Amino acid sequence: MTIRHHPSDETLLRYSTGRLGAAPALVVAAHLEGCEHCRSRVADFEAVGGALIDEMPPASMAADALDRTLERLETKPAATAPIVSPRQADLGIELPASLRHCEIGPWRWLGPGFRWSKITVPGSPQAKLMFLRGRAGLRLPAHGHTGTEFMQVLYGSLSDGRGRYELGDLDEADADVDHQPVVGMESECICLAALEGDTRLHGLLGRILRPFVGF
Ligand SMILES: [Zn+2]
Repeated sequence: MTIRHHPSDETLLRYSTGRLGAAPALVVAAHLEGCEHCRSRVADFEAVGGALIDEMPPASMAADALDRTLERLETKPAATAPIVSPRQADLGIELPASLRHCEIGPWRWLGPGFRWSKITVPGSPQAKLMFLRGRAGLRLPAHGHTGTEFMQVLYGSLSDGRGRYELGDLDEADADVDHQPVVGMESECICLAALEGDTRLHGLLGRILRPFVGF
């Protein structure tokens, strides 16, 4: 497995310091299970980032915080976290180990060749976390975002104007991203997806999911 798309350093820093929401944090955790590069990055952030972040107001991150943290990392040796084996679920895919405490709902219809499964996170009832499953060649509507969407590819692939996302890749799509994802022709695609924010859903996932899940 060659991973080409990783969480941003800002996301990994927020993950390391507990400032990423429950749903995006679980998507990042699923990515870390297969990505030694990001595990090492998180270990570094945990070692030196926490003290810096603790000095800041909780709701904001100083613009130079990341740069200051990265500067400190230059002399730090890389560290690794243990690899956790995912267990097999009845989803037909290997379930990320990070989801082992979550309640996973049945596949539900979203559109032709398009299904989703709600994931309930214990202790975080507002977490917007789900599996998305699209048939080979499925073309999603072009859309933008007003919140950030996190998608970890668990099976198959999808592409958009920015690149091709395969097994193990994580895509962060924020307000700057306007795209039209297309599932690869070789197989169906299954993703673990999270939406960040406490208010109503925005963007494509919001439009298609709101009537179903009432987030
Ligand atoms: Zn990575």
